[in-house]
Amino acid sequence: MIKRINLLSEETIIKIAAGEIIENPSSIIKELVENSIDANSETINIEIGNNGKDYIKVRDDGIGFKREDLKLAFKRHTTSKISNIKDLDEALTLGFRGEALSSIANVSNVVVITKTKEDSVGTLVKINHNGDIISMEDIVTNNGTTIICKDLFDNIPVRKKYLESKNYEVNKTNDIITRLSLSHTDISFEYIKDDKLVLKTNRNAEQINNIYSVLGKNVAENLLEFSCNEESFSVKGFISNNNLYKSNRNNQFIFVNNRSITDNGISRGIEKQYNSIIPLNRYPVFLLYINIDSELIDVNIHPKKDVIKFLNIEEIINTLSMEVHNKLFKNLKIFEVQTKNKDSKNIFNKYYTNDSDNFISNSDNIIKFKDLSYENNFVNDEVNEIYTDDKREDNNSQVVTPSENVLVENDFEDIFFEKEKSERKILVNGYRHIGNLFLQYILLEDNVEKSLYILDHHAAHERINYEKLIKDYEKNNIPTQNLISGFLVELTNNEFDLVISIKDKLNSVGIEIEEFGDNSIIIRSIPAYIENIDPERLIRDIIDSSNKLEHSIYDIDPYTIMKKACSASIKTGDNVSKLDVVKLIEMLDKCNMPFTCPHGRPTLVKITKNQLDKEFFRIQNEG
Ligand code: ADP
Ligand code: MG
Repeated sequence: MIKRINLLSEETIIKIAAGEIIENPSSIIKELVENSIDANSETINIEIGNNGKDYIKVRDDGIGFKREDLKLAFKRHTTSKISNIKDLDEALTLGFRGEALSSIANVSNVVVITKTKEDSVGTLVKINHNGDIISMEDIVTNNGTTIICKDLFDNIPVRKKYLESKNYEVNKTNDIITRLSLSHTDISFEYIKDDKLVLKTNRNAEQINNIYSVLGKNVAENLLEFSCNEESFSVKGFISNNNLYKSNRNNQFIFVNNRSITDNGISRGIEKQYNSIIPLNRYPVFLLYINIDSELIDVNIHPKKDVIKFLNIEEIINTLSMEVHNKLFKNLKIFEVQTKNKDSKNIFNKYYTNDSDNFISNSDNIIKFKDLSYENNFVNDEVNEIYTDDKREDNNSQVVTPSENVLVENDFEDIFFEKEKSERKILVNGYRHIGNLFLQYILLEDNVEKSLYILDHHAAHERINYEKLIKDYEKNNIPTQNLISGFLVELTNNEFDLVISIKDKLNSVGIEIEEFGDNSIIIRSIPAYIENIDPERLIRDIIDSSNKLEHSIYDIDPYTIMKKACSASIKTGDNVSKLDVVKLIEMLDKCNMPFTCPHGRPTLVKITKNQLDKEFFRIQNEG
């Protein structure tokens, strides 16, 4: 049967248009809260039921509506934000289209309670789907506006059904409220979900306290702060230290002139600085508050999509990368194991599980950061002493003394590091070697700070070898060992092409290869002091890394190859009891990034006695 073309009814046209802006409950919340922000509010209270499907209520203490304005506000294309055509451009770029309220009325039953400070009595109106007022009454109320939307999408059953199958709504709403409350520290936000307080911030709190309120204790405690003032822009930044990372990018925030945006260039630039400091496929947390001359940005490229164009993007990325690198590097610290993770992954979770009052930071309750930073470890010189048997009477453990079986050359230290000996220590208080575990871990006790350290010797060796390789590489002088008769590796066509294309790079790090017949290569040499290397595995690891996500962004470079060389060198399960622990830790001390292997896994983790005592219920968990 041939379908005929029909003219849609006016009602349907409006519904379709509304759907473009108001796709789901979270977009209603966004529009309402943004309106409250525009109304100069100091406090905004958001309440939702059943993810917004039952009701959404946004209350503010802003300027309110005049009665006569209410008649117009819910009609299409009505706004107080564009008064003449000159404003239009600017208003549109800021997202003022005068459509939000009419669209919201189209898809829900709206009640407004409002009062301006000039009016002595407030007004309550009910609005129908066309944006007309269907009833108006006086009401006693505070200055400001409350908008309640009920029965969302009841008049559009198809959409309603579709909505119910979406569970990302919850995250979307959380994300919107998170971003708005992080970028408006001059407003107190309260978010209540199904009668539970989920988030609360206090206006004019210190920025870090605002972050604490929104993203939680664990995030706030592991952020490093920096700021920079350039000629054309300034940034206040909070970036995660090497102990804090996430499996997604949800905790990366960029605010430009108080608006949340996304920018892949900036994000990747920052992520790159965490390369080899945090594990692969993990992402740093950061909040960047950028202020920039509006002449230098173009917000028009994506009015709704939160993407803007910076005219000086290179300068911004370079500056940020440098700041992040410096800050991060100076504050590397040992991974601390938290066995009881009270601060859950869910950013809002603390409010579900705890009496909210314990967690609401107020402005005079400044967070005290534990001063464990690496930077500060240099200061303490007196305690730089390593415990040994003869220094401790109560000691029944053996201290490993240097033997011929150490896995790293004895003269290694001298070639490697020109730095002053004992310039800094990763274990400032010294340590006692209490034993080994699973042929893999080395257990160390710090009796001053009362902590247990667990060292992964394989990861530590990777780090040490890697930094030695880098040093030699940068001096253009990697000693090599020749493989007497060469080592033949058969490859597929693609693998062969890849290996040949990076031949020079391989060469620059001491791996010499030659083509041999159709799809085979001969490995002639490998870096000298990389122990127990399997040349074939090394080449295969390098090939694999090019296929994996890990190097899709950064091409295979000599550093990638060196990382692979180091991980191919020592197998887990090498006899840890034969290691010279003292020497190993000395060499780790001299590394630039001692706390992670080249792939970002920890070399050392710390468990405090306090943590253990909690585990054994010797002391009560707080909270
Ligand atoms: P826009 O925000 O693009 O102007 P909206 O449809 O969102 O369009 O809002 C229409 C008008 O209603 C606004 O321009 C503003 O004057 C008024 N308004 C909306 N929300 C509030 C509020 N919470 N307090 C005071 N006035 C408001
Ligand atoms: Mg609006």
